[in-house]
Amino acid sequence: MPSIFTKIIDREIPADIVFEDDTCLAFRDISPKAPTHILIIPKREIMSLDDLSDEDEQTVGRCVMVASKIAESEGLTDGYRLVVNCGSDGGQEVPHLHFHLLGGRKMAWPPG
Ligand code: C5P
Repeated sequence: MPSIFTKIIDREIPADIVFEDDTCLAFRDISPKAPTHILIIPKREIMSLDDLSDEDEQTVGRCVMVASKIAESEGLTDGYRLVVNCGSDGGQEVPHLHFHLLGGRKMAWPPG
C-alpha cells in the first residue's frame, strides 16, 4: 500500500514541490507549523528511521544535504530546525520517512 507521500512522488496527489532529484523530493507541508515548513522525503519507500538499512545511508545523507540547501534558498539565515518524528511516541503520522525543515520563527526547546 503506497503511502500518501509516494502518491505525491508519483504525482497522483498535488503538492507544492520545491526540489526534486533522483533520490529526494521536497514539498511545502500542507499544514505549516512555521513560516517555512518543508518536508524532504526519500523517493525510496522507507517507513521510518527504525526501518533504515545500511544501503539507505547515502539516501539519508542526501536528504539532509538537500534540507540545508533549501534552508539557504529559503533565506533562513537566522537558523532553522530539522526534525524527524519516529513512531507513535515520536509523533509520526505518515509512514514514509520525512525530514521537517522548519524556520522563519524562533523555535521553542524542548519540543512538546
Ligand atoms: O511527522 P509526521 O508524520 O507527523 O508529519 C506528517 C506531515 O505531513 C504533517 O506535518 C502533515 O501536515 C504533512 N502532510 C502534507 N501533505 C499531505 C499529508 C500530510 O504535507 N498530503
